[in-house]
Amino acid sequence: MTNRKIVQLLHVQRDNRVFADMVDDEDNPCLSCGACCQHFRVSMYMGEMASSPGGTVPDELVSAVNPVIVCMKGTEAGNGRCVARRGVVGKPGIRCEIYKLRPTPCREYRVWLEDGTPNPDCQRLRKNIELLPLKPRSAVPGVGEL
Ligand code: SF4
Ligand code: SF4
Repeated sequence: MTNRKIVQLLHVQRDNRVFADMVDDEDNPCLSCGACCQHFRVSMYMGEMASSPGGTVPDELVSAVNPVIVCMKGTEAGNGRCVARRGVVGKPGIRCEIYKLRPTPCREYRVWLEDGTPNPDCQRLRKNIELLPLKPRSAVPGVGEL
């Protein structure tokens, strides 16, 4: 039994994709990072827009990439700040304004992999903004939580 805090919750979807939710806790490293939200082009199928059945992402926050793909505004060319990000990168208080409505690339992106090792992309991006590397977390046997 461990009394260590769980900060990353994994949810298996009906189609077997795994989504990660970070807990609102001081041990959540994302709350003082945000580097990934200004690095990748965050693209998704247009069906994820709120105006589509089952979609969540506010239409006004996306740009068209092609007739079926959109991306978060600000991330069109990569290395740009997502329009939904609030706060200063690398500083406490940074957050996603639409966290519960965010698109699938943001849900699929994990801080820790299933074996508890930090995501190498997180390590690289954190280094770029002069944050300390993440430490490994031991996986909790049988539970999709880290
Ligand atoms: S780069 Fe990794 S640690 Fe930083 S905000 Fe993104 S997911 Fe969190
Ligand atoms: S939608 Fe939220 S989590 Fe996704 S890139 Fe934008 S600020 Fe980051």
